[in-house]
Amino acid sequence: MNRARRPLIAGNWKMNAGGQEAFGLATGVADGARGKDRVEVVIAPPFTALAAVAYELHEAKSTVMVGAQNMHHEPGGAFTGEISAPMLKDSGAVWVILGHSERRQHFGETDEIVARKVTAAIRADLRPIACVGETLAEREADQTLEVVERQVRALLDELAKKPGFGVIAYEPVWAIGTGKVARPEDAQEVHALIRKLLTESSPELGAATRILYGGSVKADNAEGLLSQPDIDGALVGGASLDAAGFGKIVESAERLAEAAERG
Ligand code: PEP
Repeated sequence: MNRARRPLIAGNWKMNAGGQEAFGLATGVADGARGKDRVEVVIAPPFTALAAVAYELHEAKSTVMVGAQNMHHEPGGAFTGEISAPMLKDSGAVWVILGHSERRQHFGETDEIVARKVTAAIRADLRPIACVGETLAEREADQTLEVVERQVRALLDELAKKPGFGVIAYEPVWAIGTGKVARPEDAQEVHALIRKLLTESSPELGAATRILYGGSVKADNAEGLLSQPDIDGALVGGASLDAAGFGKIVESAERLAEAAERG
């Protein structure tokens, strides 16, 4: 963690808590985040709960922000079943997760599609959390850095249009939902590469962009990861469905940010 960048903890609820359960969970997250002013907290419910959760958080005067888990790259039109960036913005979303590995794997999203979505999100004033990460086969073939470099390069021009507005999440695919978390030093190696690519594109982009780690982050492993110099937060899947556990991750980030402030 670097004190120049405000830590960001984002919860990806995936295809869970899209109905009544969303309210209790969002309230629990808002309660846990209260007073943790050094940290930005985002929750990404399914589309069906997004507007209601955004309204609930607004009424509760919570600083917790709402994000979507995906969107279409066109602003509107004949795309049955799809949702656009302006619609998300209108529904109260501030953020949108793009290019999650589950989208790349199950819905055929390519680097090019992800870049188009990032462009569309920024155009609609919606802040992208763009996900990158290698599969197990790629890691075993020693291709991690190469794969992540390709995925990040596809996004640089878009992110450079508004330095610091977008976020990159490094999520090794083999660590997502498996309980197999990356070792902090291994994650840091990839984050350092991403930082280098951003900085080569523009020093301002490198300094301002937050790079989150995602992949089996839990209350008991968050601190080690967040202590790394180029890890600016976490994208949390499974553990974000438990408000108390998610609150502990937010607490770790707050504690580390406070310690960084003291020097
Ligand atoms: C995710 O879905 O982005 C994720 C990181 O999931 P999990 O925390 O469950 O590994």
